[in-house]
Amino acid sequence: MTKNRPLRWRQLIFFGPPGGGKGTQARLLAEEYGLRHVSTGDMLRDAAARGTERGLKAKAIMDAGRLVPDAVMVGIVREVLQSPEAADGFVLDGFPRTLPQAEALSAIFHDLAIRTYRVVVFDVDDDDIVRRLSNRLVCSRNGTVFSKETDGVTLATPCPDCGGTLVQRDDDREETVRHRLQVYQLTTTPVLHYYEALGVVVKVDGSGGVDAVSRQIRLILSEET
Ligand code: AMP
Repeated sequence: MTKNRPLRWRQLIFFGPPGGGKGTQARLLAEEYGLRHVSTGDMLRDAAARGTERGLKAKAIMDAGRLVPDAVMVGIVREVLQSPEAADGFVLDGFPRTLPQAEALSAIFHDLAIRTYRVVVFDVDDDDIVRRLSNRLVCSRNGTVFSKETDGVTLATPCPDCGGTLVQRDDDREETVRHRLQVYQLTTTPVLHYYEALGVVVKVDGSGGVDAVSRQIRLILSEET
């Protein structure tokens, strides 16, 4: 068992296609190891739900499956990473998505004297993703993600964790998913190359179930490997 063994790296970037399981894994790892889970998608959805100006602008962009401007995203992430809650480690989930974001993140790391970090890359194929996303429901109260396929929930089921209402995200509609996958391929390939050149990438086979992927991540990131 590798559970609860210390992590070799506590500054992590989870990188993979939408619906590739990185959000679920980021949440689990962060909870177990006391890391700050920084999901830029969750932060934007939260801002939209609160009706802030930035949130409402972002919602229109998100619903169309496009990307929020780099300058906005970099500002948000810098603020979070500077906060005390991120001082003991973090998992970035959904950022960086473009090369300018990756370069800006390197500058933030430099300013915060963060020298050791790893980029955990999730390998999942497109058919798996379309299936997973069309089955995905999210708790509107606590953000937990469930699958109609594996968790036995429906839109009529209360959240098994907190009793909140389960909803399907607007951007999980099939045509938006296909567009998001295209955007992902186009914009993130240079990001992957950037981190490969820096020698900080570790790969995870994201095609298994939640527990199998979870074990793999802990094994790769734990001190014993
Ligand atoms: P996610 O929950 O990570 O799939 O993000 C949902 C949506 O939020 C994306 O499709 C984008 O519209 C927006 N978003 C989240 N993170 C970023 C980012 N790093 N750069 C630009 N847009 C983002």
